[in-house]
Amino acid sequence: MKMITILGSTGSIGRNALEVIRNSKGKFKVLAMSAHRNHELLLEQIEEFSPKYVSVGTEKGFEAIRERYPDLLTYRGEEGLKILGGLEEADTVLTAVSGAVGIEATIEAIKKEKRIALANKETMVAAGDLINKLLEEYRKAEIIPVDSEHSAIFQSMLGGRKEELKKVIITASGGTFRGKSIEDLKNVTVEEALKHPNWSMGKKITIDSSTLVNKGLEVIEAHQLFKVPYESIEVLVHPQSIIHSMVEFRDTTVMAQLGAPDMKVPIQYAFTYPEREANSCFGSLDLEKMAQLTFEKPDHEVFKGIEYAFEAGKIGKSMPTVFNAANEVAVELFLEGKIKFLEIYNILRKAMDRHIPVETLNFDTIKKVDVETRNWVMANF
Ligand code: NDP
Ligand code: MG
Repeated sequence: MKMITILGSTGSIGRNALEVIRNSKGKFKVLAMSAHRNHELLLEQIEEFSPKYVSVGTEKGFEAIRERYPDLLTYRGEEGLKILGGLEEADTVLTAVSGAVGIEATIEAIKKEKRIALANKETMVAAGDLINKLLEEYRKAEIIPVDSEHSAIFQSMLGGRKEELKKVIITASGGTFRGKSIEDLKNVTVEEALKHPNWSMGKKITIDSSTLVNKGLEVIEAHQLFKVPYESIEVLVHPQSIIHSMVEFRDTTVMAQLGAPDMKVPIQYAFTYPEREANSCFGSLDLEKMAQLTFEKPDHEVFKGIEYAFEAGKIGKSMPTVFNAANEVAVELFLEGKIKFLEIYNILRKAMDRHIPVETLNFDTIKKVDVETRNWVMANF
């Protein structure tokens, strides 16, 4: 039985992970789980999964849990997240919180040489250099990607050797607004931006998918996870979301991973790798029903998220940290109705233009750049 810690159990990835565990016939056991605001759901999850440790973001949630489960080891806030990330008894830590708040817990898990099932891409974007430095130091720690594209790249890489790799092709659904012009996007509403054609996900990543900033974050994530130069990473729009990504080797062979758009599959694979397990909550891909698989180039004129990410990634150092932090605040402002959709790109552009990059090999520097960027965006937009 594998002991699993789920950071962000109340979110979309977290709930999918619990569905995997619920149907795993006892192969996995929840050791610990965390929520931020949704302590009601956390209470239900505690009832069903009987974890040994939990952490919650709010004082109200903390009190509610202590009252109902006085013997449960209950923690609070960012400190609680960090404690859960570093639990000795865990086999695997699933990082499924949204945003750069996952960095410290991921660092703790690396220091304890755990397997990290990484969904929280913002951590790899904002702190990729530091995470990679720590992985060199703590050799038994490992990151298995959960993000469907990176899980696909990881699996496709098994078809050849790293030194034979020519390029990585990240597929993108194109998001809600595929085919739209700048004019069309000027006045889109939050509700429209939240309608993703293929995937059901948390709000932040759904907005990121509609701006294609999500794909930009994934480009940086791929660079950091697989150590491929940006020149060897390509993005291809594939509206059906069946091919989750591909790699091309130097003999021109392309390896791809296909599957139904269901995050439960890459979540479980990150738990079981190198093994594969059946699970009754998975549905097979019906290839006959797939009339066609199509591909097209992304529209960089309208959706600037990918090119800005390439730019931030190539500059490196703290620029990806700024790209991520500015985007996190911009998305919040958009969700709160305080800025228009296209303003997100404007915020990214301006935050990057004003920043002078510094090395990001320690946490304090990353935190400083992250906070400074957030404050600047909040003060100016
Ligand atoms: P959700 O918004 O659905 O869930 C986020 C989770 O993180 C919730 O449990 C939430 O708690 C918790 N959380 C939010 N803010 C904080 C905070 N400040 N401190 C501690 N915990 C916090 O997000 P998703 O599940 O969609 O995404 C999670 C991560 O996985 C993201 O990094 C995303 O990019 C990545 N990902 C998601 C995919 C998907 O299909 N959803 C696909 C690929 C990657 P609460 O709800 O209790 O407030
Ligand atoms: Mg993805």
